[in-house]
Amino acid sequence: MNGSPKLRLAYLYPRLMNLYSDAGNILCLTKRCGWRGIELVVDEVDLKASPDFRNYDLVFLGGGEDRQQTIAANDLLETKGDSLLDALGNGLVCLAICGGYQLLAESYKPATGEQLPGLGHFKASTVHPGPGAPRCVGNVAARRDNSWLVGFENHGGRTTLTGSRPLASVAVGSGNNGKDGNEGAIENNAFGTYLHGSLLPKNPDFADELISLALLRRGIDIKLAPIDNTVEVRARNALLAKLGVAS
Ligand code: GLN
Repeated sequence: MNGSPKLRLAYLYPRLMNLYSDAGNILCLTKRCGWRGIELVVDEVDLKASPDFRNYDLVFLGGGEDRQQTIAANDLLETKGDSLLDALGNGLVCLAICGGYQLLAESYKPATGEQLPGLGHFKASTVHPGPGAPRCVGNVAARRDNSWLVGFENHGGRTTLTGSRPLASVAVGSGNNGKDGNEGAIENNAFGTYLHGSLLPKNPDFADELISLALLRRGIDIKLAPIDNTVEVRARNALLAKLGVAS
């Protein structure tokens, strides 16, 4: 490898789809790359833009309310769909939160109105049972391998996996649908999740996993230099204790 590595991230709809501090995930990735001498270039990709997603290492898509989601769903399919789907199929590393997760899956039926077609990368579909249905809202602790994912969820849609594997298993909270215990989805190097607020600063190992995957896809197989996560670990442990889950 010549010089310090550089990664490029496409940040989809930064103003339209940015609920509950989803943008903090970008800050976290930028910092955790920078502390290792890795430059993370962030390109904002807005409505109507149609970049070639083969030029990216990572893509991020945050959450949105049904109104914003309808706008994003149309734009996604019209201007970005083919290129993004192709890149995701080729291992583009992706983090999609809540409304963003729903849009990268097969379909989303909002509380009112027509079903929105999704990109279909995640094998999953989502139905919002209607305006009167209780929302899935609150702190979440979900088991992922030997660790915990912690975050905050607030969604009306209930997602059912139709082929993708779950990201984690819910111990506290609703996750995908409040019934089957699944939280999120994984398909290739793409991760969909309901966890907002911001997810990655609270889950630094997951942030590093995304960075490592992006580097690996470029053929850069390095062990990321450790970072002092004392504050993050303390915050996680406080939340897990509050939720009655042992860390
Ligand atoms: N509008 C979607 C729902 O209610 C997503 C909400 C969100 O991104 N927080 O399910």
